[in-house]
Amino acid sequence: HNNTTDLGSLIHKTGLTSKKSTSAVLHRSLHHDPHQAVHAKGNYLCLSNGQKIFDATGGAAVACLGSNDERVARALIQQLTDGVSYCHSLFFATVAVEQLASLLTSSTNNIMTRAFFTSSGSEAIEAALKMARQYFLEKQQPEPQRTHFIGREQSYHGTTVGALGVGGHRARRKLYEPMLSKNASFVSACFSYRGRLSVDEIDKAYVARLEAELEAEFQRVGPRNVVAFIAEPVVGAALGCVPSVPGYFAAMRRVCDKHGALLIMDEIMCGTGRVGPAPTAAYPNPLHAWQDPSVGVAPDIMTMGKALGGGVLPVAAMLVNERIVNVLAQGSGAFSHGQTYQAHPLACRAALEVQQIIKNDDLVSNVREQGALLGKLLKRSLADHPCVGDIRGQGLFWGIEFVQDKAIKEPFNPADGVATGIHELGMRPPFNISIYPGNGSCDGERGDHILLAPAFNVTKADIEHVVGTVTRVIETYF
Ligand code: PLP
Repeated sequence: HNNTTDLGSLIHKTGLTSKKSTSAVLHRSLHHDPHQAVHAKGNYLCLSNGQKIFDATGGAAVACLGSNDERVARALIQQLTDGVSYCHSLFFATVAVEQLASLLTSSTNNIMTRAFFTSSGSEAIEAALKMARQYFLEKQQPEPQRTHFIGREQSYHGTTVGALGVGGHRARRKLYEPMLSKNASFVSACFSYRGRLSVDEIDKAYVARLEAELEAEFQRVGPRNVVAFIAEPVVGAALGCVPSVPGYFAAMRRVCDKHGALLIMDEIMCGTGRVGPAPTAAYPNPLHAWQDPSVGVAPDIMTMGKALGGGVLPVAAMLVNERIVNVLAQGSGAFSHGQTYQAHPLACRAALEVQQIIKNDDLVSNVREQGALLGKLLKRSLADHPCVGDIRGQGLFWGIEFVQDKAIKEPFNPADGVATGIHELGMRPPFNISIYPGNGSCDGERGDHILLAPAFNVTKADIEHVVGTVTRVIETYF
């Protein structure tokens, strides 16, 4: 196949991408500048070289309404001219922030009673870790010995040192390992493709094994030392859109409850309608991944981000359930954490408008409908490809994992650069498509996958375009 060296020289020859760096910006690569985006509308990003790119991932599952939605623009202008552009949330409340919090807490049937807003997902995770710790310090019978967090292998919860410390993604942790919390450990992810003992291990047995593993980890660190177990209901970038096996989260909840620990769900990537959760009697208009019957249990603390503000402005959130809020209310009476830009009025106004559009346009139904089509068409056109090991996902959140040997699920190695190579190829004419590359899905270091996470308002024709183009990119690459 075209390895990265071949692709690198190709790119160099065409001069279409990855020009030598002349930028003053500290981009990811110090040698090549990324493409210059000059204009965006709907699903498309236009580059300075005239290319028109279909954004099939909305960045990293962020732009849930596509780009430059005029309704959001109008709301922001109104907020900037007639409302409040900034004020410190310590001293002032604003209508936009209050309305956004109400919309989010009521979307949980008020199981979660308070929302705390940050500028990024990583910061929402930091807030969640601190909130969980503060809960145990302020309970009527305080448990100050609870300092340990249990996460999952190959997981990612953010880039700041606290959030990275509860993520089990080995490659992402590697450079900073000595700086990361010693009070964190990891159990296996719930990962159908690679986690089952064999294809014969049925859901029930697999879940029972993972439940026993979590229980054993609680016992190893001392059950009364654990603050919380943290996991994504549908794993995003770290594994490539992996839904949990039905019954898994109920089992994890049982273990947490048994030992009095909290359950934190990270819905930064998979939440806010992204996975098109199925309606139930309790949640006829579900928004959160945990409301899907396959997850079926509510967290104590949850985080949201990405599609919360649709990429219009940086905004993320932590939602907290009543039990925790009550403990703090009867304890110190304050959450002992704060940031300059928390609950930023303009960012929250953007999120409010985005969330109202999702609700009023019933976009989660479209996510379910187009998501089912996306999954069906991807499987139809790529399942038999010799380098496609697995196609998995839910809603408008699909991952394709690549393997060198399908029979034994042999992953690619980091040096192969498969996912980034496929991304680069996709960005070139005639494909002109942006897909999200990920790696580490095998063991945290090896294993490549791509993610597809188009906007919630895509049409059938958009989905057919995405599948047709991605198929041609993959077939050309290998
Ligand atoms: N948690 C998950 C599941 C994520 O996917 C991400 C970002 O990719 C984060 C947390 C961190 O969010 P941010 O990049 O906004 O800090």
